[in-house]
Parts: sequence; structure tokens; C-alpha cells
Amino acid sequence: MAYLIGEKEFFGLRFKVDNRVLVPRPETELLVEAIIDKAQPGERVLDLGTGSGCIAVAVKTERPDLRVTATDVSTAALAVATANAKRHKADIDFVQSDWFDALAKEFDAIVANPPYVADRDAALGELRFEPKIALAGGQNGLDAIKAIVSQARAHLRPGAQLCLEHGHDQAPIVVALLRGQGFERIVTKRDLAAHPRLTIARKV
Ligand code: GLN
Repeated sequence: MAYLIGEKEFFGLRFKVDNRVLVPRPETELLVEAIIDKAQPGERVLDLGTGSGCIAVAVKTERPDLRVTATDVSTAALAVATANAKRHKADIDFVQSDWFDALAKEFDAIVANPPYVADRDAALGELRFEPKIALAGGQNGLDAIKAIVSQARAHLRPGAQLCLEHGHDQAPIVVALLRGQGFERIVTKRDLAAHPRLTIARKV
């Protein structure tokens, strides 16, 4: 439906969407809340795999004091994200990058809604419009989450937070992966359907 209209509302803002990006989902608003609630004035926030740009634009709109960088591996997605940032006059630094590959900087917070659907999930076969790259996370859906968790430490200052959206049944493994990389104060939050959907951790 969103593709027919060409727009989707997210965090009270209207976003342009088309078949180059994932349609923003309401549960992803939890990631925006987690960032804007916790960030100190002027902090540097990184949105990995920004897609339509909805997380980055919502964060910057709510908290103009934050310095927001947003990446995507897809230049097609970045074109949509850039248009959405322009539409909402959100000053965001967009970088084409395969997760952290093109990033040298450290950040105070990293947020990501990576592809986390398992390859065998029937939902992937039924996709008519959304790009598979935005949803398919490998055999058990964890490829992108593993890549991010294993590389995030090097790009976070001590005390900084990593905020990840994940599948409803992935919280225990995501928590274990974060512990394995030395993250602490790990908290999982539920979405409106009461599914564990978001895990936040701190680098110590
Ligand atoms: N929540 C989405 C879905 O179930 C998945 C989004 C994602 O892979 N990041 O369709």
C-alpha cells in the first residue's frame, strides 16, 4: 500500500518510499525513542543501513543538536534517504558503506535495523515490492547482526550504546553475541505486539 501511495508515516513524519527501500515499520520507532531519550547534547549518532532514512531523519528532527551519520550499502536506497532528509530539512551526513567498511570515526551511539529475516522464512518469497537485501539476513537471519556486533566496538567510545532491532525470536542470541563482544548493561525491549524486538547494550 505504501508503495502505491509512495509515502509512509513514521514517527509523525511522512517518508517517500518506493521499491528501492524497506517500508518503515511502527516497531522501528522504538529505536528512535531509545536514541533520543539517552543521547547527550551534541553527540554523534550513526544509523547503519538507513534505507529510507527514517531513523536518521526522525532522530535529527527530534534532536537537531545531535550529529547524525547514516549509511547504506545500496546507492539506490541512499538516493531515497537523501530525498527524505531534504524534505524534512534534516542535516545528515550520508555515507555509502557496507556496514563499517567506509567509516573511520567513533560514535556515541550506533543504531541499526538490519536485515534479520531468515532465508527460509516464507515472508521473503512473498515479497512483491521490497528489496530482498533490506530483509534477508542469511540462513538464520543473523548474518548482518553478527557483522555489526563484531565490528561495533571499534567505532564506539567507552560508555556508548549500540541499539539493534531484531526478530521476535532472536533476543537470546543477540544478547549472547553482545556479551561475547564484551558489551554490558544489555536490555531487551518489547514492541507493541509484545515481541522482544530491540536490544540495547553499552560498550564499557
Ligand atoms: N520487521 C520486518 C518484517 O518482519 C523485518 C525488518 C528487517 O529485516 N529489518 O518484515
